Amino acid sequence: MLRDAARRILDGETLSAIVQEWNRRGVCTASGGPWRVNSLSSILVQPRLAGLVNDAVEGAAQSFPPIIDLHTHQRLVALHASRRKGPRRATRRYLLTGLLRCWRCGGGLRGMPRSRGADLYVCPGPPHGGCSGTAITADHADEAVLDMVVARVDSDDFAGRVAAYDAPASSHQSDLRNTVSMLAANQRKLEDLADMWASGEISRQEWLSLKRNLGGRADAMAVEVARFERLDALRLLAGTGRAIRANWSTMSVERRRALLATVIDHVVVLQAEPPRQVFRPQRLQLAWMG
Ligand SMILES: [Zn+2]
Repeated sequence: MLRDAARRILDGETLSAIVQEWNRRGVCTASGGPWRVNSLSSILVQPRLAGLVNDAVEGAAQSFPPIIDLHTHQRLVALHASRRKGPRRATRRYLLTGLLRCWRCGGGLRGMPRSRGADLYVCPGPPHGGCSGTAITADHADEAVLDMVVARVDSDDFAGRVAAYDAPASSHQSDLRNTVSMLAANQRKLEDLADMWASGEISRQEWLSLKRNLGGRADAMAVEVARFERLDALRLLAGTGRAIRANWSTMSVERRRALLATVIDHVVVLQAEPPRQVFRPQRLQLAWMG
């Protein structure tokens, strides 16, 4: 199938056409999942397909005979390289990656560079797990979300909420410490139980049921700890809108995204209504944390 895909790609067929066909036919990847354009694209240029041992796995014996000939391999590598657009511009890391969801299919939107016109966030096509039904201009969305977050952390409503979390600050802190030490104790108990099972002191049945019991409590506590930490982070953001704006340009994309993710659970991008050329911030429905 890979040999067939290589031939078709070199004949001009698209990766996504092949991926769609394979997924329709129920052909899955080595790990049993559906094919994606990226997985097929990266497999086709692997040197081991042509029987060449990759430096990274040198020492590991080639476990199958070559699937494609050297010439085909070289043509695939050249094609792959030519797909990367011209002089690679510094790859833009998109601020809202992981936060934006498509109104239609609920899938995550991705940043999409365009050589003409502004970059977009788009719901990727079915081979990438989306519906390709939504697109929004990246710069507009980034700006609008920042505006909404700044307004949020400076709002009275937000101040009221974090004040409520904050009320007994010291007991809040000691609750957190207790929870963390209980988590550690639970972990040790789980290890003891495994030893007891291994040495025959308890049956496998008993071990499984104790483990389920303790594991469930540990999970619940981990959720609590995460909640405390999030509330703490939110509390620190109250009233800092002006400072956020002042420092925004000096922050890395990762830091900006981390800050947004403290306040925002996710953002649903609604359908564009005509006139489509006009950006409306109302298309962005923010779901807040806390
Ligand atoms: Zn979608």
